[in-house]
Amino acid sequence: MLDRTDDHVEATIRELDDVDLPAGEVTIDVEWSTVNYKDGLAYAGRPGVVDRYPIVPGVDLAGTVHSSDDPRYGPGDRVTVNGCRMGERHWGGHAERARVPADWVVRLPDAIDTRTAMAIGTAGLTSMLCVLALERHGLTPDDGTVVVTGSSGGVGSVAISLLARRGFRVAAVTGRTEEEPYLRRIGAVEVVDRAELAGPGRPLASERWAGGVDAVGSHTLANVLSATAYGGVVAACGLAQGMDLPASVAPFILRGVTLVGVESVVTPHDRRVAAWDRLATDIDRDLLETMVTEVGLGELPDVTARILEGKVRGRVVVDVR
Ligand code: NDP
Repeated sequence: MLDRTDDHVEATIRELDDVDLPAGEVTIDVEWSTVNYKDGLAYAGRPGVVDRYPIVPGVDLAGTVHSSDDPRYGPGDRVTVNGCRMGERHWGGHAERARVPADWVVRLPDAIDTRTAMAIGTAGLTSMLCVLALERHGLTPDDGTVVVTGSSGGVGSVAISLLARRGFRVAAVTGRTEEEPYLRRIGAVEVVDRAELAGPGRPLASERWAGGVDAVGSHTLANVLSATAYGGVVAACGLAQGMDLPASVAPFILRGVTLVGVESVVTPHDRRVAAWDRLATDIDRDLLETMVTEVGLGELPDVTARILEGKVRGRVVVDVR
């Protein structure tokens, strides 16, 4: 539970009763949750994330339905909930039990167990939405290299593995060049030091990539755009470097580059289901497991602080029990 006092936010583990849970049609026995960048912001009490306290944090959960007032779900169904302002406005997944509106619930495909669902989590779902966006705009492996920024992080790591699995040649941009063996193991064929892209660049650079998945924003995204080849497409989903975009229109008007925004929090239900179905076929579970660190509820204050410092590699799953 996160509580706000005058000058800081405190996280404590508390025993609650079902009657304390918020309104919703589906009550879920949570088995696993996860830690995303946004959870780091919430635990740190950064403005613009949590808008009512006290709140159970956790933007993701996976578990089994305990009870449901909605005929679409019944006890024992394996489900996940991602985003939907959980852990921001509505009590979230860092708990043994949660109650949510039925429209937020996604039934897990048979191939994805609840732990794997949280190894994927919002970060992996967002990566899948980015890959689907690139494909929707016609990008194929024959077009050339796809660049992934923030590549040692959750979104970046899963994006690399999904793209590589589909046959794309992937260049990974990282500030942690010591992670090169990890990045190559999960599918990158080229590793780029993020210092190359972190500062102001030219409006138009030589064509280097056919497309991109950007989890970083700011100068990095501007430089990715300026080095994207004619007709290329870049999916932007994150702001780890900054929310600004100091770019020019040159890539758009001189090379016909497309910039696609990707968001996972209020994505329509049918698009979530389509992304989870694709994850069921595309995710390499053994490879995913090599990206995972497992923690308990008591470790959350520490791990959420580390994700804000860019020190968490890959994905974190939380055993809430
Ligand atoms: P992580 O912290 O796991 O990954 C972010 C990565 O970005 C880091 O690992 C690091 O990679 C890189 N990075 C960190 N700081 C900087 C910096 N100052 N400059 C350049 N690169 C930096 O977070 P997630 O993967 O969970 O999320 C990534 C981003 O995507 C966040 O901004 C998050 O808010 C956003 N997001 C958006 C969603 C949406 O719906 N649009 C959903 C989920 C996430 P490396 O060390 O390899 O350089």
